Amino acid sequence: MARDLKYTRNIGIAAHIDAGKTTTTERILFYSGVNHKLGETHEGSATTDWMAQEQERGITITSAAVTVNWNYRGNKYHMNIIDTPGHVDFTVEVNRSLRVLDGLVFLFSAVDGVEPQSETNWRLANNYNVPRLGFVNKMDRAGADFLKVVKQVKDMLGSNAIPLQIPIGSEDAFKGVVDLINWRGIVWNTEDKGMTFTEVPIPDDLVEEATEWREKLLEAVADYDESLMEKFFDAPDTITEREVLDALRKATLDGKIVPMVCGSSFKNKGVQTMLDYVMELLPSPLDVEAISGTNPKNGEAIERKPDVKEPFSALAFKIATDPFVGRLCFIRVYSGNLEAGSYVYNARSENKERISRIFQMHANKQNPIENVGAGDIAAVVGFKDIKTGDTLCDEKNPIVLESMDFPDPVIGLA
Ligand code: GDP
Repeated sequence: MARDLKYTRNIGIAAHIDAGKTTTTERILFYSGVNHKLGETHEGSATTDWMAQEQERGITITSAAVTVNWNYRGNKYHMNIIDTPGHVDFTVEVNRSLRVLDGLVFLFSAVDGVEPQSETNWRLANNYNVPRLGFVNKMDRAGADFLKVVKQVKDMLGSNAIPLQIPIGSEDAFKGVVDLINWRGIVWNTEDKGMTFTEVPIPDDLVEEATEWREKLLEAVADYDESLMEKFFDAPDTITEREVLDALRKATLDGKIVPMVCGSSFKNKGVQTMLDYVMELLPSPLDVEAISGTNPKNGEAIERKPDVKEPFSALAFKIATDPFVGRLCFIRVYSGNLEAGSYVYNARSENKERISRIFQMHANKQNPIENVGAGDIAAVVGFKDIKTGDTLCDEKNPIVLESMDFPDPVIGLA
């Protein structure tokens, strides 16, 4: 059965080294693993899962793509997290990741703010018009300042960064956030590693500041919805949460707004709320333009929609060696469907090769799957001759997808 692509997310996490990408990724795996099993497990299993995952960290965190599930507002989302290296030496790899992901969580340290590699990655992400959500991490550290980082993202990266939250408490006393959209305070419960949170009234001393930031947020999104704009001027009290979220999503997908949230992944605060906003605001494969390419036989331009009924097309974006299954080729499927055991055509080598197995990498296991369809990401086994950047397709409907080597003066491509 084809997956409903509305609930698929292909997301990268971009950050300057040391901002907390590894810690945040681990927490995502932890929360989503538990989240996935909620209902089946009793309380207290969280710690065991956590330890098991920490041990397996070597496998999962370094994988080119890890798949998790996330329940949000009654729907089960399928999220592929694509590795986006933080070190300056890996600019080529960042380009490759950006080519196959649909949205980015841009991580900043609340103390260090915008750093050199944030600037480089931001600029590369601009080249691909990747919509992004800002996550300001390390809110528990001395000198943490969420709004200062928001301002830097505005001033230094030239974006319309808009806070969706303001922090409750700072540094050691960082406890939670005021959500400016649904107008409530939340404080994470620490005894269960931040699995749950308690709703609290907006603290008196934050009401004025929160009101001010909510107005800024509404003003920014009102441009994206006429009725919201009318309400903003005539009856702001009647504005609904859904209206704000829908307008904000449009603005985010258009790259007109960069929504900003905060937390401390190390202290287990804010990762789940950030994930909820990933599902709410970042694109699904259906929100992204159809992929274009050329027919290698006659040079004719071709477009492929993210639909399993279209002819198969996919891009190989990373070749890796796995201790258990051998050589893995990570692919992003743009159209059609690929079944394990079938043959696929490589437009570069002009060879047909048999795919023996297809996997998706989860927090603690490689999950064999029978097929991988449009909009999804998986690792395939079986290629003898494969290079990153190769287009894989249907022999009768050949296509070379547009080059993934984006011209950039910083890089010397291999
Ligand atoms: P990466 O280089 O971006 O992958 O960063 P890491 O996840 O390895 O984190 C770098 C360091 O910052 C580690 O020592 C983490 O324990 C620490 N760290 C990460 N997130 C937080 C946080 O939210 N608060 C604090 N205080 N430290 C953090």
